[in-house]
Amino acid sequence: MANRIIIGAQWGDEGKAKIVDYLTEHSDIVVRFQGGANAGHTVIVKGTKFIFHLIPAGIMHPGKECVIGNGVVLDPAQFLKELKEISDKGLDYAGRVFLSDRATIVMPYHIALDQLREKMRGNSKIGTTGRGIGPAYMDKVGRWGIRVGDLLSVHALSEKVTMNLEEKNALITKVFGEKPFNAEKLIADYLAFGEQLKPYITDTSVFLAKAAQNGKNLLFEGAQGTMLDVDHGTYPFVTSSNTIAGSACCGSGIGPTHIHSVIGITKAYTTRVGNGPFPTELTDEMGERIRNVGGEYGATTGRPRRCGWFDAVQMKKAHQLNGFTSLAITKLDVLDSFPKMRICTSYTLNGETIDTFPGNIDECAAVTPVYEEMDGWNCSTSAAREFSDLPEKAQRYLERLSQLVGVPMSLVSVGPERDQTIVNSDF
Ligand code: GDP
Repeated sequence: MANRIIIGAQWGDEGKAKIVDYLTEHSDIVVRFQGGANAGHTVIVKGTKFIFHLIPAGIMHPGKECVIGNGVVLDPAQFLKELKEISDKGLDYAGRVFLSDRATIVMPYHIALDQLREKMRGNSKIGTTGRGIGPAYMDKVGRWGIRVGDLLSVHALSEKVTMNLEEKNALITKVFGEKPFNAEKLIADYLAFGEQLKPYITDTSVFLAKAAQNGKNLLFEGAQGTMLDVDHGTYPFVTSSNTIAGSACCGSGIGPTHIHSVIGITKAYTTRVGNGPFPTELTDEMGERIRNVGGEYGATTGRPRRCGWFDAVQMKKAHQLNGFTSLAITKLDVLDSFPKMRICTSYTLNGETIDTFPGNIDECAAVTPVYEEMDGWNCSTSAAREFSDLPEKAQRYLERLSQLVGVPMSLVSVGPERDQTIVNSDF
């Protein structure tokens, strides 16, 4: 039995979906435990592109079961749309999707408030995807969120929608000068969603406990990345949930002793979407080159990603937070044509050298990276299937990354396709 947590080790978009897709072969159940449709996971199989926002990417494997845990915030329209897209592409998901009765619903007023608040923040906007995720989590913590199970009860839903709209409509009309939402329409629409969601609604914590007892292999699929964690990331430029490994247990209702390994996914360089500090960002031609070669545009929003060198200081922080048992390093092929590689090994801050990631946002923004340089390999790595197939300089580069972070490598990805993956023989 091997229950694994997959975590983005940087600021998201590390290529988690490809690795999850790869590891699903060795798992029985794939679990989403936080975030919502703000995540965008891309998997390419035999040239066909699948982008998932809510449904675990594991759905592409026949016979594998997929769970959306209690820690997720769910937009029912998006969920149903994604199921339709999956069946339109010829995948059969019948009996394989389980949705927690405790997951929080993203309501249309959350989406409106997300966008209105971002607009109000002007230049200091967070750079959210505008899909209502933050406001939905606010209501969850405020204890007036609407949960999946509420959509099956006329009484519960009516009471909660009415109570929520009293506040939300006042905000929307009086503070933002926009049109209010109609309670009756929302209640009718969301009861109708409840009917459509009914076949999937499950007490997923119980479902997972039984599966673990029966020796099934569970794969927990993190969304976003470590540095976007609401507590430990570059606050306030973070997502609205906990993205680190500990969140897998809270967001799915399973005890930590069931977990056997935590795999940190990192690119061979660094990217970040949205605002906030990013010490190794390259704003020059080199950054542009990484963006173009790596196709670094958001899967959910199409926004260009900010690009920079691999940051070992940030990655050590990620290891400290997640306790990685191994690293999966993706997008090595993107660096194939670069003559020199740089790796950030420490920072200078106010004239002093530091090798820890500052907790203070202003300090994060003020650090200057200290780099070491390595030779590039100047040839294609995309056909490598064994570590020894890689050019020697690429092997040295990967080994140096792993050594600096202090975590062994389990997987290396050299292209978007499922088979463009190198597995360390010890894994
Ligand atoms: P996720 O959110 O962490 O799953 O990452 P995304 O799906 O947003 O972004 C990863 C992108 O990189 C997708 O378009 C993948 O198809 C692609 N990708 C993943 N691994 C590799 C790789 O090793 N090389 C290349 N060139 N592309 C990759």
